[in-house]
Amino acid sequence: MVGRTHDLAAITAITYIIATSPIPKMSLATAVVALSATMIGGLTPDIDQPTAPLWRSLPAGSIIGRLVSPFLGGHRFLSHSLLGILLFSFLSEHLLAMISSVLLVNMHIVWECFMIGFISHLVMDTFTREGVPWLFPFPFHFGIPPLKFFRIKTGGIIEKAVIFPGLLVVNFFLIHSHSQKFLTFLHNYIH
Ligand SMILES: [Zn+2]
Repeated sequence: MVGRTHDLAAITAITYIIATSPIPKMSLATAVVALSATMIGGLTPDIDQPTAPLWRSLPAGSIIGRLVSPFLGGHRFLSHSLLGILLFSFLSEHLLAMISSVLLVNMHIVWECFMIGFISHLVMDTFTREGVPWLFPFPFHFGIPPLKFFRIKTGGIIEKAVIFPGLLVVNFFLIHSHSQKFLTFLHNYIH
């Protein structure tokens, strides 16, 4: 999947959670930082790919990407696995705890949103031809459907013409059918 689809998938996961789960009250700053964390989380697993959108959006990112990538083993490796989820959840929790002394937002919510974005990335990649090595260091790649031929080609016509618009429709449907929930959530910030 391309970065744009991962961004939208991460947002869709958050939309679904707002629609269906009890949401704690949070400051506007927390909500804004949490939304950014969702999208960063949605792009983070691709840091094992030097051309990842996350690297391209940073100054000197492609150079850093090229330096970091060999350690993570190349595209769809450690950061695309259950072990990667554990490792990144541990690292991001500690990194955010360090930042929390200078940035006054609810870091637990920010961390949860980062992880939701991260996991949404792996779920989306599972539908692509390459599949996802969920059980890394075991080298098997898993995909849905199991037959590679029926899976989606990254950046291909199905992703652009079906998956991306499909996710937009899901967001619209969730917001429309739970509009009261979304209004109550936004009401915290609009007085
Ligand atoms: Zn990926």
